[in-house]
Amino acid sequence: MTTDTVPAILRPGATWRNWSRVESVRPVFAARPSTVDEVVEVVRFGRDRGLTVKTVGAGHSFTAIAAAPGIQLDVSAIDGLLGVDTTRARVTIGAGTNLHQLPALLAPLGLALENMGDIDRQTIAGATSTGTHGTGARFGGLATQIVAVTLVTADGAVLRISETENSELLPATRLGLGALGVLVDVTLQCVPAFLLAAIERPAGFEEVLDGFEQRATSVDHFEFYWWPHTDSVMTKSNSRLPGDAVREPIGAISGWLEDRVMSNTLLGLVCNIGRIAPALTPPINRLATRVYGNRSYSDYSHEVFVSPRTTRFREMEYALPREAIPDALRDIRRLIDSRGWRISFPIEVRVAAADDNWLSTAQGRESGYIAVHRYFRDDHEEYFRAVEQVLRAYRGRPHWGKIHYRDAASLAEVYPRLGDFLGARDRLDPDRLFTNPYLDRVLGP
Ligand SMILES: Cc1cc2nc3c(=O)[nH]c(=O)nc-3n(C[C@H](O)[C@H](O)[C@H](O)COP(=O)(O)OP(=O)(O)OC[C@H]3O[C@@H](n4cnc5c(N)ncnc54)[C@H](O)[C@@H]3O)c2cc1C
Repeated sequence: MTTDTVPAILRPGATWRNWSRVESVRPVFAARPSTVDEVVEVVRFGRDRGLTVKTVGAGHSFTAIAAAPGIQLDVSAIDGLLGVDTTRARVTIGAGTNLHQLPALLAPLGLALENMGDIDRQTIAGATSTGTHGTGARFGGLATQIVAVTLVTADGAVLRISETENSELLPATRLGLGALGVLVDVTLQCVPAFLLAAIERPAGFEEVLDGFEQRATSVDHFEFYWWPHTDSVMTKSNSRLPGDAVREPIGAISGWLEDRVMSNTLLGLVCNIGRIAPALTPPINRLATRVYGNRSYSDYSHEVFVSPRTTRFREMEYALPREAIPDALRDIRRLIDSRGWRISFPIEVRVAAADDNWLSTAQGRESGYIAVHRYFRDDHEEYFRAVEQVLRAYRGRPHWGKIHYRDAASLAEVYPRLGDFLGARDRLDPDRLFTNPYLDRVLGP
């Protein structure tokens, strides 16, 4: 290939690594378009030259779902507010918009996202394409908030998909794993801005599991963390308040101390101590349960949903039928005890409402989530593989952006609408322009 035939927007690719440093790739070409026409140009070039095109968001998936061996397309320059429908509380934003940009865009409109996950570093397209979720038995993941998208498909067409245009594709394209095309914008259903009243309290492991259903359904947003090798969990119960309620935020210093120093710096230190002297992990975890999480405050929703995560880690997360969570967690506890592993990272448990996105981890069922983590310098594989076996027995579905070891055949057993999704893929990307090795594994070639 001669360089004079390569569009100016393409440059030679440089080595890319994901946030958790578990995946890397050196693309042949990279492009950072700032218009839809430029996206179309890159897609057509890839198609004509037989090079796959993979869009990358913020690289915060733990899997290789965003790895682009052919052309890496970064849409971060297609960002910000593109349209507002004040009557219906909807906004259209560029697909490369980072979640942390949204509060400043939405606040002047008196709006907010209905729910959020733990962090806000992701792009809106990356987060929704993998099924990113927060917690709350009445609330779906971020992709359920999408009411329309604009997608550049493999033939270079610009396709509008909404409740009134090509609506049959919405359950696929709201959560499409990046396999159906390049999202250039998404329209989100927002809600009036609100505050959250947060209560963080320690509690007993068995007490919380016995009362899990009640706890998960009696508060808007319930989650808990369990430190392996201890009998304690840290519960977080967030209740929604009107936007004009009185804020009682955590003081800047205690917030910094708890969220930055305790939850991140100390966690990193604990992980490093655990590497050198694994026997110290259980007593350190017991200490952690006494130090963390006994506070209440209220603040703008995004300030409460999101926390900084500066200690690098690796994660696997599975969605189960919600009622299976207590038994599954007890099984994992027995597994950890029987194998003699020393696990310094807490296990996180959340919930979400059933939804109808074909590849959603919560598709068609009220869901509970169990997430296991390991420090990025520790070997995660033995632990994650063994936990996966436990969670598969409960008809678990892995988060698309978090480490797992499943393939298309085994995923078909737990995703009843996978066939519909593959039909949409055949229609929108028959030649697999947007595939990569991860998608070949989980969707088939
Ligand atoms: C510290 C940390 C905390 C996390 N917390 C949570 C959490 O609370 N809840 C949760 O569910 N997940 C969580 N995750 C996982 C994370 O939200 C997802 O993996 C998400 O996909 C990352 O978004 P991204 O912008 O980095 O996308 P990438 O990882 O870069 O890409 C993900 C997928 O989106 C596709 N994509 C990106 N942009 C486009 C586009 N414009 N068009 C089409 N496809 C596109 C990519 O091709 C790829 O398939 C967390 C991850 C980390 C590292």
